[in-house]
Order: sequence, then C-alpha cells, then structure tokens
Amino acid sequence: MARHTGSVCRLCRRERVKLMLKGERCLSAKCSITKKRDIPGPRNRRIKQLSEFGVQLREKQKVKRMYGVLERQFRNMYRAAAKRKGITGEDLLMLLELRLDNVLYRLGYAKSRPQARQFVTHNHIFVNGHKVAIPSYTVKLGDVIEFNPKSKERPVIKAILENMKVEYLQAWLSYDPAAQQGKIVSLPRREHIDYPITEQLIIELYSK
Ligand code: SF4
Repeated sequence: MARHTGSVCRLCRRERVKLMLKGERCLSAKCSITKKRDIPGPRNRRIKQLSEFGVQLREKQKVKRMYGVLERQFRNMYRAAAKRKGITGEDLLMLLELRLDNVLYRLGYAKSRPQARQFVTHNHIFVNGHKVAIPSYTVKLGDVIEFNPKSKERPVIKAILENMKVEYLQAWLSYDPAAQQGKIVSLPRREHIDYPITEQLIIELYSK
C-alpha cells in the first residue's frame, strides 16, 4: 500500500476520531471532526453495526493512520513486539512511540507527525550528532535529538525553537533550552500514551 497522499482530514472522518494530522488546525474550530460534533441532531443514523473483525480492523487502521505507518511496517512492529518478554500490546505502542518522527512530535519540534516526518526526510534532524533521514528510525534510551545546526536559521525551525514549551513534555523526554537538544530519559510506558487506544483489539486481529 502506498503512502496516503489525499486529504488527511478524510482519514479522521473515516475513523470518526481526531488523528491530529494537521497541527494547529486540529485544535481549532476549523477541524471537520469538531465541526461535525457541533452540529445538533442525531449523528449515528448512518453508522453500521460492525462485526468483531470490523471493530478490530478499525482500531488497527486508526492507530496506523495516527502514527503514519504503512501496513507492512505496522505488522513488522507487531512481530517485534510479540518477540519481546512484556505485554505485546504495550510493547507495540512503545515501539510506535520510539519512532523518530513521533519523538519529534512529542518533543514539540513539529506540530504534527506528518510535519515531523518532513523534517526528517529533508535532513533537518540529528540524532547523537549524526544526520538521520529515516522517519521510522527507532530511538534508544539516552539518545540526543536536535535540529541540524544548518537548519536552525530557517524561519519555521527558528520559530519552533523560540517557542518550545518544556512544561508539556512527557516524563520520558527532556529538553535542554540552552543546548536546544531533546533527550530520551526513559522508555515510554502505557500511561504516557494520552489517546484512546484499545491495543488488545489489534493484537487479537494479528494473532488470528
Ligand atoms: Fe483530523 Fe486535524 Fe483534520 Fe481535524 S483538522 S479532521 S484532527 S487532521
């Protein structure tokens, strides 16, 4: 399956949730999911009753689309999570959180995961002092993430660095404003994932 190039808001409408793919617009009244919620009257008229498989499939699609992962990558992540000793669903979410594009989004280096992905592919990101251009790169404990020094003068990146808000950072991340560097200080745990995900449904789907 190729990467989705159409309207990303359509993906949210399909999953009936905010996938937060458009940065600031997602928090504004312009978001089509917000607009829909504001329309009075019955909303579920056209919602079909899903089968058990349908419910599991929609949960998997929701998570995959939220993190911007393709089907094959997602299945490989499930396999890697299943090989670990912990709870497979939680390990799957941890691996998704440790993707470089997600880490940039969580640090506040990007307003959305698609923007983070673009920063990585356009060579704007360094990990431990080396350029990394692979959005799916898995960061490790202790890794230091920063913008490419050559990119810091770009107006978009300059504005991001000037407006970094460390108070909203998740506990597994830290940011040093003087050095303009983010760091992985612990591994993300289930309670850090502030989004309604029922990972068990995804595990049931893949383990059939
Ligand atoms: Fe989804 Fe954001 Fe579009 Fe709203 S604005 S529908 S949350 S991508």
